[in-house]
Parts: sequence; structure tokens; C-alpha cells
Amino acid sequence: MNKKALITGASRGIGEAIARKLASEHYDLYLTCLHSEEKLHALATYLEQEYNVSVGAFLCDVSSCKEVDKLFRHIPSLDVLINNAGISYIGLLTDMSPQAWDRVLGTNLNSLFYTSRNAIPLMLQRHRGKIINISSVWGECGASMEVAYSASKGGVNSFTRALAKELAPSGIQVNAISCGLINTEMNLHLTEEERCSLIEEIPTDRMGNTAEVADMLYAVLSMPSYTTGQIFTIDGGWR
Ligand code: NDP
Repeated sequence: MNKKALITGASRGIGEAIARKLASEHYDLYLTCLHSEEKLHALATYLEQEYNVSVGAFLCDVSSCKEVDKLFRHIPSLDVLINNAGISYIGLLTDMSPQAWDRVLGTNLNSLFYTSRNAIPLMLQRHRGKIINISSVWGECGASMEVAYSASKGGVNSFTRALAKELAPSGIQVNAISCGLINTEMNLHLTEEERCSLIEEIPTDRMGNTAEVADMLYAVLSMPSYTTGQIFTIDGGWR
């Protein structure tokens, strides 16, 4: 029987690349996103036909505990949880509204609690499972104009380390992948000049691509069960 993975935020970018990689490795998938219903369904249909796996596609706002609980009514068993959905916010902290703060923290951090609290009982039943959280280098070192985002990803890193300790006796691994600058829609706000000056700081002299993050994720999934509580970085040597 195929292993089953839930990937949040799979309609595009890093989540879509992870979905393609795991389908090609014969995982059955549950994919979610916030708005891009058509795109997600088209991806699900393509993956089912191309790789002969089963793929469920669901709209689910991961910042809503209620919606995540509802999503899990469709998920009777799970081997792998990938917490990927995330949003950025660029601007001075003093210009940020409390609502925007809540949206960033809700989507990037609270969501990990909402999905994990549902996924863990399914994994405990079989004394195995893997949770991988997608984090950012800004979670370690912080970025100006991205205080909420940096705080949320710092939270993701601490969540990962703490939950790994809590779940290690139960045979469940919890790790994170901390990304540098990856070429996705999340970075479309950058002007050509900003893009070039960021790339100048990166030793590999380019942005990363989503397939590289998906390959990294699959490598982490394949690691020995003794590997847990780790934040693995993929950033072209940037930070
Ligand atoms: P994209 O903006 O390309 O894609 C974001 C995905 O998340 C979309 O599928 C989107 O769905 C979904 N999403 C957004 N909000 C919600 C929500 N409330 N509920 C459910 N799904 C939601 O982002 P990336 O692929 O670049 O980013 C993926 C992850 O990688 C994020 O956690 C991000 O922080 C992290 N990361 C990215 C970096 C980069 O340089 N790109 C660097 C470091 C980390 P929809 O299409 O419906 O809006």
C-alpha cells in the first residue's frame, strides 16, 4: 500500500513541487490550498494520471482550527505531514495592523498546531510518522521589514525542536527545512534591482528552485529514524 502524505499550500511554488516529487515516489496525497481551487484540482488530476496514485484536493484555510479539523474528517490515516502553506508580509512593524499580524502568525505558525493535533493521533496508532515543517532562514536571523514573518518562522523552528522531543518516544520524527531565497510567487514583489542585490549576497549566485527544495524534503524523509528535531537549511550558502 502507498504511504500517505498531507501537503498544505500545494497549489503552487514549493508545495506544488513537493507534491510532484512525492507522487513520483508513489505517495498517495492530500493537497490543500486557500483559494486556487482549479489549479489544485488540475494538479491532482495530473498526478493521479501520471503516477497512478490517489490524490485528494481540498480548500482549507490552515489558519482556521475549525477548517483544519474539518479537513481531517477526510483523512483516515497519515504517514507524513508537510506544513508548507505560508504567507509573507513586507512593511514596517509600525505600519502593520493587528489583523495582518494575526494573519501571518495564524497561517505560518498556528497552522502547525492545528494540523499536528489532528495528525499525531493517526501516527500514534501505528507508532510511526514524519512531520516536516517548511521554515525560512529569516526564522534564525530575522529580516528588516519582515518582523512578523521572521517571528513566525522562529516559532516554526522552536515548535519543531520541542515537538520532536515530545514525539521521539512515540517513533514520530519532526524536522524542518529552512529555505533561503526560492524562486516562487512569494518573491514576485521584489523589483529587478532588489532581486539582483539579494542574489549578489548568495554564494551560488542564483535563487534556489522549487524542485531543489522538494529533493531536499525527500532526502529528509529518507533519513534514519534517529534524525529528529533538526532544522536543515537549503540556501545556496547564503546565511
Ligand atoms: P507561494 O506564495 O508560492 O505559495 C503559497 C501556498 O500557500 C499556496 O498554495 C497558497 O494557496 C497557500 N496558502 C497561503 N495561505 C494559506 C492559508 N491560509 N491556508 C491554506 N493555504 C494557504 O509560497 P512559496 O511556495 O514560496 O512558500 C511555501 C513555504 O515556503 C512557505 O511556508 C514560505 O514561508 C516558505 N519559504 C519560502 C521562501 C521563498 O523564497 N519562496 C523562502 C523561505 C521559506 P493559494 O494558491 O490558494 O493562495
